[in-house]
Amino acid sequence: MKSAIKKLIPFWLGRKLRGAYQKVSGFLYTGGSYYCPYCKKSFRKLLPGGSDIPVIYEKQIIGAGYRQNNVCPRCYSLDRDRLVYLFLQEKTTIFNSPITLFHVAPEGCLRVLLASMSNITYVAGVKYLEGYYYERLTDLLDITSIPFDNEAFDVIICNHVLEHIQDDALAISELYRVLKPGGWAILQVPISKILETTFEDPTAIDPETRERFFGQFDHVRIYGQDYKNRLEKAGFIVKTYNPTKEKWAVNLDQLAINPEEDLYVVYK
Ligand SMILES: [Zn+2]
Repeated sequence: MKSAIKKLIPFWLGRKLRGAYQKVSGFLYTGGSYYCPYCKKSFRKLLPGGSDIPVIYEKQIIGAGYRQNNVCPRCYSLDRDRLVYLFLQEKTTIFNSPITLFHVAPEGCLRVLLASMSNITYVAGVKYLEGYYYERLTDLLDITSIPFDNEAFDVIICNHVLEHIQDDALAISELYRVLKPGGWAILQVPISKILETTFEDPTAIDPETRERFFGQFDHVRIYGQDYKNRLEKAGFIVKTYNPTKEKWAVNLDQLAINPEEDLYVVYK
């Protein structure tokens, strides 16, 4: 029903309506407990988010279950987006060095920020999927055949994409190919705390089965602790940044970051 209504509303109008709604919603939640670094606003609480699907709890998929104080009421940044911001701000020079950046399936809050920065040559691509209508702002892309030269980018951000891709090894090798030597990428995925080995089942084709098996209708696997090995196989050096194990200059509680969520950063 929701997607039928979306189809009737022109894209530009949908964006305007959502913008107006977000302004009102952000205003209603104004307060001092939480801070969103993307829209630079403070809130008394954030919106809840996540899904209540049994396999998410059974396999302890980090950052996927239903939780309070997850979504910024003003710009819709998620806890995982705010972790990305924290990393970019405190562990990289992305806010002041000249950088060519490739952003795959861009998160709205991060796209607005990065695309506005004059030091960044910003390229984004997304695979159009039913249900992601309002994010249809960028060029279509097949991540298993990236239409760019070898070593074209200093930085790649590709979060929560690989769990949708059947041949993720090919996608990871393509990301490696287009990254410059000395470059780095953030490659977040939903990951199980308890699975040693990634769970896949190629017979799970229909959305209902995928939701039951993997926790979302369009996921094709649940990554386990061997995700790191999959990245290393392509040639990447993998480093994880845990919010509670790293030192940060800002108050993590205010950002409402999930303390269990490691940020996967790869280097070439
Ligand atoms: Zn925000």
